[in-house]
Amino acid sequence: MNIAKTLREFRSLREQLPSPVGFVPTMGYLHDGHLSLARMAREDGASVVASIFVNPTQFAPTEDLDAYPRDLKRDLELLEAEGTDLVLTPETNDEFYPAGYDTWVDVAGITRVLEGASRPTHFRGVATVVAKLFNVVQPDRAYFGQKDAQQALVIRQLIRDLNFPIELVLGPTIREDDGLAMSSRNAYLSAEQRTAAPVLRRSLDRVEALYEGGERRGNVLRDAMQELIDTEPLATIDYVSVANLETLEEADVLEGKALVSLAVRFGKTRLIDNTILPRGASLI
Ligand code: AMP
Repeated sequence: MNIAKTLREFRSLREQLPSPVGFVPTMGYLHDGHLSLARMAREDGASVVASIFVNPTQFAPTEDLDAYPRDLKRDLELLEAEGTDLVLTPETNDEFYPAGYDTWVDVAGITRVLEGASRPTHFRGVATVVAKLFNVVQPDRAYFGQKDAQQALVIRQLIRDLNFPIELVLGPTIREDDGLAMSSRNAYLSAEQRTAAPVLRRSLDRVEALYEGGERRGNVLRDAMQELIDTEPLATIDYVSVANLETLEEADVLEGKALVSLAVRFGKTRLIDNTILPRGASLI
């Protein structure tokens, strides 16, 4: 496995990779969710490129950029064990954002709700860094997780609108045994918070069960999620949503596919999770 710490080094190593190239962008502190995407790329027969970059522009000044967990040595070992060919891990933020940097990619519409409403500059940072990564890596396929469902929809729009010749491939959300979606941010949870956090998956299960029993009223489904999460004193809801999958507008009465999603704080740690209705339907 080759490791590039600068864009210049990366470009010369990238040239030597056989096509097709599959790309897995990450912010590091890897878990099985990330690694499942590298595995998918490998199983698809691609050369596998991963990036590890804690992208500062997708964090608001009040958020956890400095505290974001990092363990580069372990990440590289894990990627190597998955058969990754090349890792881009810029040593400084200047590689991507040198002094005077001033170009931004703003996907409109679907970035204004849900995560975008709670974190107004977040998707601008994500779309900008992903566009830059696509330009540098020039992958044939890019692998993203359904765990960040709205982000995946934003990337789909970005690929279409900016004419990237890249196939978007989504991997399912990988969970701990008790249902908690894997996330680098789970490392912030205290033992009590960690014990409480599976309530998120249970609230999604409840919505799936109600839907399968014939319930289609959006407010009833949202209330059911909220009520269950509210039974957990350590959980503070940021939002619960049952939205039309195409527009991400809150659904009055569900028709077609819906994105059921939530963001909940445990102390300072903000966790997100989601499911698609009908159960098992694809996000894109
Ligand atoms: P991050 O390092 O959080 O930016 O995530 C990098 C990629 O891994 C994104 O495409 C995420 O959607 C994906 N990812 C994160 N957590 C999971 C998970 N639990 N299951 C599947 N994919 C995930």
